[in-house]
Amino acid sequence: MADILKKYIFASDFDQTLTFNDSGYVLAELVGIPTEEFARKSKGMAKINLVQQGAELAYLLLHDPEFREKVRKEHLREVGKRIRLKSDIKLLYQLLDTGIDGHQFDFYVLSAAPVEIVRSALEDIVPPDHIYGTEFRYKPSGEIDTIIRATAGYGKVAVLDKLLVEKVAGPDHVVYTGDGSSDIHVMLHINARDGLTIAVSEAPNVSQVAKRTVLSTSALAVLAPILEEIAGWERYRIRSLFEANHMLIQEWERVRTDWLTVRPAAQFTPEEGVKTEAKLESART
Ligand SMILES: [Mg+2]
Repeated sequence: MADILKKYIFASDFDQTLTFNDSGYVLAELVGIPTEEFARKSKGMAKINLVQQGAELAYLLLHDPEFREKVRKEHLREVGKRIRLKSDIKLLYQLLDTGIDGHQFDFYVLSAAPVEIVRSALEDIVPPDHIYGTEFRYKPSGEIDTIIRATAGYGKVAVLDKLLVEKVAGPDHVVYTGDGSSDIHVMLHINARDGLTIAVSEAPNVSQVAKRTVLSTSALAVLAPILEEIAGWERYRIRSLFEANHMLIQEWERVRTDWLTVRPAAQFTPEEGVKTEAKLESART
């Protein structure tokens, strides 16, 4: 009897998840806007919560006079060529597609960055129609005119829901990987529907939400939690898969991180302690 192929959606963030830096910084540098200036503006944007987390660059491109005046579509494509990608994204794509017994994962990218940047960076690695990013409409002069859609925060949930309908996949057949605040909304959404969420950074806001956290300079590392959690593979089998593809897992340390904030407790009298215990006792019975 032929094994039934289980189909999944693998969705990944772009900036700092598939890359080592943020496309906003590379863009600022390219068009001659000091990166400190960009950092200051985008931090200020994030602080006032006017736009979805991660959409700060999109907002600046639309409304900041300096960005508006300087940035054209060509610059966005050029940023894609300059940004440093994590290694082995292509191999990850191939293995998810056909390399895992009984499982097939469709690889999508959901990024708050302008779609031109992501498509240019992942050219010949991920098909353009598998890449969702923030989309602008341009004036004939090449200047950004309006925004069509921002794929940040809740915008990622909207894209994912659309994909689920198109692929006729169950919400538990979703894996999402991301590094930052723009990914929290979609991760909470997936967790609530029994999908798998993987953080690729130790930033407390994401790693506390994600089911697993994996840190590596290779994009391939996310396969480890996927194979453990979804395919139920043991470590030796995961190592063998990597080796069969000419990759070696050199180190595999698992550190469970507990985040604790400890502060002095409010004073309480022994009588109150007794009262609390009594309450707990009555709650149990
Ligand atoms: Mg990111």
